[in-house]
Order: sequence, then structure tokens, then C-alpha cells
Amino acid sequence: MSQFKTKKSVLEISPYVPGESKSADMSKLIKLSSNEGPFGPSQSTIEAIKNAAINVHRYPDGDAFELRQILAEKNGINAKNIICGAGSDEIIAFLCNAFASQAGDEVVHYDHGFLMYNIYAKAYGATPVPVKGHDFTADPKAMLDAVTDKTRLVFVANPNNPTGTIWDKQTVLDFHAKLPKDVILVLDSAYCEYVTDANYTNGHELVADHPNIVVMRTFSKLYGLGGLRLGWGHACDEIIDILNRIRGPFNVSSIAQAAGIASMKDTAFIQQCVDNNTLMRDWTSKELMALGLKVVPSQGNFVIVDFGDEQRAEACRLYLKERNILVRQIGGYALPTFLRISIGLEHEMKLALEAISSYLKT
Ligand SMILES: *Cc1c(COP(=O)(O)O)cnc(C)c1O
Repeated sequence: MSQFKTKKSVLEISPYVPGESKSADMSKLIKLSSNEGPFGPSQSTIEAIKNAAINVHRYPDGDAFELRQILAEKNGINAKNIICGAGSDEIIAFLCNAFASQAGDEVVHYDHGFLMYNIYAKAYGATPVPVKGHDFTADPKAMLDAVTDKTRLVFVANPNNPTGTIWDKQTVLDFHAKLPKDVILVLDSAYCEYVTDANYTNGHELVADHPNIVVMRTFSKLYGLGGLRLGWGHACDEIIDILNRIRGPFNVSSIAQAAGIASMKDTAFIQQCVDNNTLMRDWTSKELMALGLKVVPSQGNFVIVDFGDEQRAEACRLYLKERNILVRQIGGYALPTFLRISIGLEHEMKLALEAISSYLKT
């Protein structure tokens, strides 16, 4: 045993394994492994990043005032109810630190849900409670059954990563109505921009009436800023006040703030990203099904596809990798027979589909 002492739960963490990022010929790389926006950041955002570089010797605005202002305006909410983070990962960390860090505290999440809820719960000393769902969707009834008087947080990624499924607005409302008032429901809306289902809510409209709902958003997907680390949370005054107490004074860099502000203003670029995703998600799903593969209908910027067994899924992943196409194996999400394929540009998806098709013929 080590001479260094840490929480027992920390030693129980299985480290997060990111999507692969390297292939044999990087000049031909088609990266469909991490759900990053395939257009990268917009031109105006790149300009803003360059301009912000000039003043990088100055500490950032610790309050992210201008960024919160534009986020509030664009989402029809109040800037005082926003907290910004170094990625929405940091918001998950703040929430676990603030509300689920006493021995015995429980954090409920879907067992095929985003791994970071489980990891941060353990990091802060809480006990994660993974709950089974059905049809690749978190099960509201089963999650309510898992709530005890020790439950502090319930995380629901909506759409869910990696399955791409959603809870519609009514499901969220019904679930919330049965949740004890002192349990915080965290709606992780990392992929909300991509949703086309009319019955969906990203949750912002619910926060004003429901102090135990927190909504999380990110700049890592649609806005193409994964490398800069920028995300945010929306909650009632009291929760924001608590989270701000544990937030580092300069947690979001000046460059990230400038990039976030520029990205929010570039509505034409945002629309282009959404349109490409809607079109190519539909196309990719149909083409995969035409190859005889089972595809879970997705509302995100990715789809999961079932190869029936683990060896076949892994062989296909390696076959694609040899052709410089990276997709994600999701054994870590307890879905080892599946691959998750991010929605890229049209020519990228065509090459990926051709490669999968030729793999199936081997
Ligand atoms: C990608 C992702 C995030 C975003 O993480 P960042 O730290 O903002 O990069 C959050 N939640 C889910 C479900 C995701 O898939």
C-alpha cells in the first residue's frame, strides 16, 4: 500500500479514456471519435482568439461578465444565474464538490450515461449510483427508485452521450415533480443545439420556477472550442452563490472568454453547423441501417451502431483506423458491441460509410 492517503473512492475511479486522436497519416485524419464540431471554430472566433492573445499577460475577468451577459441575452435568462467553467466538466466538479462530498452522499446517473458524473462523484468522496435504463434511454421510474435520503445530485445528459436519446419536456417535468426538493436535478444539455425533436427542452425555461434544476452547457461541441475548455451552468441564485464560493477566481481564461463571446455572435455559423448535422445524422443513420446494422436513433451529433459482438466492433474500429478514420469504442460505457461515430462533414461521412461497408465485406 502507498504511504500517501487519499479517499477510498478516489482509488475506485477508472480513469476517463478520451476518444483516440492519432492516426497513421494525420494529414488525412477523419476524427469522428470525440463529438467535436467538424467545422472547427468560426472565422470570427479565430480572429477573436488572436486578438485576445495580445493581452494574455493580464488576468482574465474573473467574473466573465461580458460572456455571461451575451449567454443570458441569447438564451433569454438572467446573467446573475450563470456560472462559467473550464469546460462543463468543471461545472460537474463544482456541483459534486459543493453538494456531494460528504461520506455517504449519493449521485444518481444512467449506467450508459456520461462517465464524468461517476468520476467526479468518486473524486469528491460521494458514491455514484448507476441506474439501468431501457431502449438506450435513462429510465425515469428506475432513477426515482434509486433516489434515497442520501441522494444529493441526479445527472441526466439530455441528449444522452453516448446513446443520443432524449427525455422530452413532459418526461423531465414528471421526473422533477417526483424528486425531493432538496435533490438537485442536473440537466446536461451539452448537445441541445443539435436536437430536432419538437417536444424537447434544454431546461433553461424550467430553472426560474424550479430552484433544484441546474442546466449545463458547453462550447466543446457545436462551437468547436473543445481545446479551449469553456462551459457554463444555469441555476437559481442560491446554487450559483454556492458554486461561486468554490470556483477558482480566474477559472476561465481570457482567450476562452473572448472566443465564447465571438462564437455566440456568429449566428450564421451556428446555423451552418446545425444544418450539416441534421442532414448528415439522417444520412449516416440511413446508410448504416442499409448496411444491415442496428442504429440507435440519435438527437445528438453522433450515432451508436451495433456490430452484434465485441470482436466485430473492435475489428471494424481498427479497420477504420488503418484508413485514418477514428471512431469511438464505448466499452467504458458498458456498450462493448457498439461503436460511436461522431457526425462530421459530408465527405468525411461518405468515406467513413464506404470504409464500414468494405469492412463488412471482409
Ligand atoms: C462532451 C460532453 C460534455 C462537455 O464537456 P466539456 O468539459 O465542456 O468539454 C459534457 N457533457 C456531456 C454529456 C458530453 O458529452
